[in-house]
Amino acid sequence: MIEVVHVDRCVACGSKELRPAFAREDQRHTSLARLSGELPEGVDPAFLSTFTKIGWRICEHCGVIFAGNRPPAHGCESWYLPMFKLSEERGYDVSPLPESYVRGKAAGGAVLYGVLKERGLIARGARILHIRCATGELLRLAKENDGADVWGFDFFPSCVAHANEALGEDRVKLLEGPNPRISDCGVKFDLIVSNHMITHAHDPKLLALDLRGSLADGGALVTCNEPDHAKTLKSFRSYRRGINFFHKQLFSEETFVSSMRRWGYELERIAGTGGRARKLEKYMMFICRKSEPTHGPAGSAAKSAGLLRSWERRRRVAELLRLV
Ligand SMILES: [Zn+2]
Repeated sequence: MIEVVHVDRCVACGSKELRPAFAREDQRHTSLARLSGELPEGVDPAFLSTFTKIGWRICEHCGVIFAGNRPPAHGCESWYLPMFKLSEERGYDVSPLPESYVRGKAAGGAVLYGVLKERGLIARGARILHIRCATGELLRLAKENDGADVWGFDFFPSCVAHANEALGEDRVKLLEGPNPRISDCGVKFDLIVSNHMITHAHDPKLLALDLRGSLADGGALVTCNEPDHAKTLKSFRSYRRGINFFHKQLFSEETFVSSMRRWGYELERIAGTGGRARKLEKYMMFICRKSEPTHGPAGSAAKSAGLLRSWERRRRVAELLRLV
């Protein structure tokens, strides 16, 4: 039995004024559509038929684009990882991890460590949590250089094993789904780095509040790799396998910022320099600090609808020209 949540209020602002995001949904609108009926062992065969239609919605009030039919926040462990690997073609969950993957994460981890250190976010002995920490490189650097007390989560068992070995302790846990039980760590954190989680969360408000509640006084949340769909949807290659089933909110900068403000954060955008500038323009990084929830300017439904319409047009052209 697959549980489905039919969302009838905006996941960000709670408004009941919603519009369908697309006139009709086909294989372009979910990456599950191109899978044959053969699912990984242990996954209910009804999974694909249950989620044939995502029921994409746009909030008339704040402009957030989100999946109207989605799994619940918790209880996804039997299918989340195997379906993610199958549908998004993630082949690196092998032990030992592929060398090129480890090299890539070592380079990325060093850059991220530099960015956070430069902004004074890694103090001596800081308690740090990295969600989707991959090989745990950021945590390893913070532990070795700053005596940080480090914790992590990742979706892939091979990454969890690799990270724990690199750290020499058992601090990295397996993520069972996109709403981690952070309070299980039993620690309040000075720094939480949340890698591409808010886009994935089945209940983004719940996740944002969990993260907020897990920060120590004066602590900071850094959200990274959250796609700005106002930019990413402009590529002819965008969502060429169909919209990623695991993306439940398709944010733009405007809607991400307004959602996070509603959930009780004040945001500061981190811009990249040199070669990283373009990546950070499309895949947003923010320092988020606790504040009172505010209802400032939001995105607009018309703008979100326009983005999706031009993406659909581009997909049709790309398919006609067989660009991808
Ligand atoms: Zn809304």
